[in-house]
Amino acid sequence: AARPLAGRVALVTGASSGIGEATAVALAGAGAAVAIGARRTDRLDALAARLRDAGSAVLQLPLDVTDEQACAGAVARTRQELGGLDVLVNNAGVMLLGTIAGADPEDWRRMIQTNVMGVMYMTHAAIDGMVEQGSGDIVNMSSVAGRQARKGAGVYNASKWAVNAFSESLRQEVTGRGVRISLVEPGAVTTELTSHITQPEAKAASEKMHAGMRALHADDIARAVVYVASQPPHVAVNEVLVRPTDQE
Ligand code: NDP
Repeated sequence: AARPLAGRVALVTGASSGIGEATAVALAGAGAAVAIGARRTDRLDALAARLRDAGSAVLQLPLDVTDEQACAGAVARTRQELGGLDVLVNNAGVMLLGTIAGADPEDWRRMIQTNVMGVMYMTHAAIDGMVEQGSGDIVNMSSVAGRQARKGAGVYNASKWAVNAFSESLRQEVTGRGVRISLVEPGAVTTELTSHITQPEAKAASEKMHAGMRALHADDIARAVVYVASQPPHVAVNEVLVRPTDQE
């Protein structure tokens, strides 16, 4: 079917740029009504206008995923205003690469609070309703960094390792009740992600790594999310690892 997600409702966190924005566009293109959450509401305004112009139902959610109450509120508003929640894409994240020695622990707090606690708060808010309705997808944006630890990425690695462990545990908990938990694990994707790195050497190394290859486009990952969410009810795509062909 051309619109495999017609009649479904999706919520994408971190939809103001990069992979999250592309995922919201792709899910809407597949027919879903889409709730878009992030902190930069001006970006959400622009995306919402684009999606509405294309005929999609959209809900803008000012959202900081490090705020537990805000996560609960975002899920509740989605259910009230879009009529349900079928696909939650936990995509919001930060990658503050750097050595462990000499790091600013504030970088670590931001990564753990966003990449780990954010996924947990959003999942906590969404999971009961999905179990009650006997269906639903939670797609967690992990990374190659959740499978391969490297020097200079320790706490980012730890955050994505946590996402993978949390996802697998939850998968076992709810799979018999019709709810699917999936991991999408991108390699290098050209987005704003590296722009927030605070250690100058780590930022330069990361930008050099991206520039030295044909990196993925955000839409390459968005297609993987649509693939995961479009499967028939008996098929659970648990994990999708997508690297640029050029990435070691
Ligand atoms: P971007 O920086 O372009 O996007 C990150 C998104 O997360 C933004 O929309 C940002 O919105 C949002 N975000 C950050 N902090 C918060 C917060 N506290 N609350 C709500 N939203 C937040 O990067 P990407 O698109 O590349 O990253 C998306 C995900 O993909 C991340 O989880 C990242 O770890 C993962 N990933 C990316 C890879 C890459 O190479 N780019 C590779 C592997 C994984 P705002 O600032 O408006 O709140």
